[in-house]
Amino acid sequence: MFAEIYLSLPVDKPFHYEIPEGLADKARVGMRSEVPFGSRKVIGFITKIVQDTSIENVKPILSLYDNEVVLTEKMFKLAEWLSQNYMCSYGEALSCILPASIRPPKRPPKPKDKDKDKEMKADIKPVLNVEQQDVTNQIIESAKQNKPDIFCLHGITSSGKTEVYLNSIEEVLKLGKSAIYLLPEISLTPQFISIVENRFPGLVGVWHSRLSAGKRYLTWEKARKAEIKILLGARSCIFAPFTNLGLIIMDEEHEPTYKQDQKPQYQTREIVDVLAKINNAVAVFGSATPSLEVYYRAKQGQYKLLEMNERVDKRELPKVTLVDVTQIPSKARVITKELALALTRILARREQAIVFLNRRGFSPGVSCPKCGNVWQCPRCSVSLVYHKTSNDLRCHYCGYTHPWPGECPTCKNKELSVFGIGTQKVEQELHQLFPQARVFRLDRDTASSHEVYHRAYQEFKNENYDILLGTQMVAKGFDFPRVTLVGVIDADTALYLPDFRSAERTFQLITQVAGRSGRSSLGGEVIVQTRYPNHYALLASKDHDYHEFYDQEINNRRQMDYPPFSRLANILVRASKEEKAIELINKISGDLNDFKEKNVFKYDILGPTPAAHSKLRRLFRWQVLLKGNSEEILLASKNIRNYYIPRGIFVSIDIDPQNVL
Ligand code: ADP
Ligand code: ZN
Repeated sequence: MFAEIYLSLPVDKPFHYEIPEGLADKARVGMRSEVPFGSRKVIGFITKIVQDTSIENVKPILSLYDNEVVLTEKMFKLAEWLSQNYMCSYGEALSCILPASIRPPKRPPKPKDKDKDKEMKADIKPVLNVEQQDVTNQIIESAKQNKPDIFCLHGITSSGKTEVYLNSIEEVLKLGKSAIYLLPEISLTPQFISIVENRFPGLVGVWHSRLSAGKRYLTWEKARKAEIKILLGARSCIFAPFTNLGLIIMDEEHEPTYKQDQKPQYQTREIVDVLAKINNAVAVFGSATPSLEVYYRAKQGQYKLLEMNERVDKRELPKVTLVDVTQIPSKARVITKELALALTRILARREQAIVFLNRRGFSPGVSCPKCGNVWQCPRCSVSLVYHKTSNDLRCHYCGYTHPWPGECPTCKNKELSVFGIGTQKVEQELHQLFPQARVFRLDRDTASSHEVYHRAYQEFKNENYDILLGTQMVAKGFDFPRVTLVGVIDADTALYLPDFRSAERTFQLITQVAGRSGRSSLGGEVIVQTRYPNHYALLASKDHDYHEFYDQEINNRRQMDYPPFSRLANILVRASKEEKAIELINKISGDLNDFKEKNVFKYDILGPTPAAHSKLRRLFRWQVLLKGNSEEILLASKNIRNYYIPRGIFVSIDIDPQNVL
């Protein structure tokens, strides 16, 4: 007997292997096996068992990787879809759904005491308000009728979306089904995990990148056997092996981290969409700032739109003030008078503030004012960032560091200047302005591990600090009742990036960070410093008006034919010699053009151009962006996937790119 086996290789066909005597009665379709491939031993997926093969010199399977059938019909269907949509082979898709790292351990892991007697607190379950009850009812109704309905839940910050999710899950469990609960990795705090675990004691598995292999397998296995009913986790949790999936929740649906950065570079949102159909399950995309894609689909009637426009307990949204910094001299403090006054007020009242700047380090640029020399990373086309605490220059892309130069190597000038602002500089100013205030700086330099991040969270929650200063890390999901002020030092960091989503990202970020203020009866305010106080993204976030932003942005997208009106493929070539990158991208671009003409396709070919980051980690980057309808751009991209790519040159074809930098 022979097995047809797909391997995790960029090859679209299965390989044949012989099933040796000893395994003949064990091997089944849907199991994985170890097989020889060249001089290596690799993991393959058995998709068919046949009596005969026309292939010569068939090698035998070495061993079975699973004791049981682990791949279901639904997983095969999903793999098929994944391979068609995200530029990978069927075998690569299967190994994304079921990575080799998930396998029965040789020895069963000892249960840790911590796991055994995890303390369960009494469940304090708030009574849903009218809005919450109403949207929950609609979700539950679809679940009861087994309709694969997809909902876009647009609920302003602090409208109580979590309770909607939890109540919906509860009902779906009553129907005997299971639920996947997705959220961005950063929101997966111990506090949040215990809220869900306390609500559903013994039924929750947690899935994130820091799980040990043993724990990962155990959790996966429990989900497969329905010993747990809820899997809570970051994007790869979407591949949970539930056999009776009833509900998929995707919280903060708009977050860029839902895009997988390695092959297959899937957009989790699209998997949610297709999984709902495959499983006849209900899905909920939740956000205070829905992505244009999801909200557009809801407006079109493809998804069902649910809106929650009030904060729980009718608390008011914080007042947002835009402070125009164009008139302020460049040598002045970065903390404006308006923000300083607001900080003074809240410190006097013993309340707390969050100060946000999406750039770490002290200054993102160092130059010699005499000869104009600018310090750049030797491996990347970006300037080095001055870090004061370590007194060195660092590349934020590749990690290259260089001690503070002291003098200009070209003109020997010793008076070097640093320009631009990072969190360290803001920290210094905060200390100068408010020597008594206790400031915690939270960015990737201070919180290198999750533990530090969680400790910072706890310390701030316990009011051991007055001001939490930081990057994106402080913008998301924090729920501190005593925070009554949010200050945004520079709202413009993303605004004019050469990316069609820059306005959307800015609106989302400002709305999210503003939503950290005024989450209790104390009320709250937000001060946003910007050079573009009349930009529609900022005006809309000032008014807390998603619809105002959406209407403006969707018009821009329509005019430019960007998503949701088209699908994109970003084809990126990287090579250590720039000529090589250019040579290949020109060939690709030419072929895309021929392919278009031959098939009378309509897609646009933008480029070739150097990427916005034209060199990263010693590799030059050139790209072509395809814009068109889904079918055409997938066909064109597949054509390129079959290229022979010389060694040392890398080509990635990113469908639904999250950014085009
Ligand atoms: P969102 O995710 O919409 O920003 P959350 O789900 O974090 O909002 O809810 C904000 C806060 O309101 C949480 O502390 C939550 O416990 C509380 N909350 C939610 N629903 C209710 C309710 N019906 N009554 C009272 N408090 C609630
Ligand atoms: Zn670098």
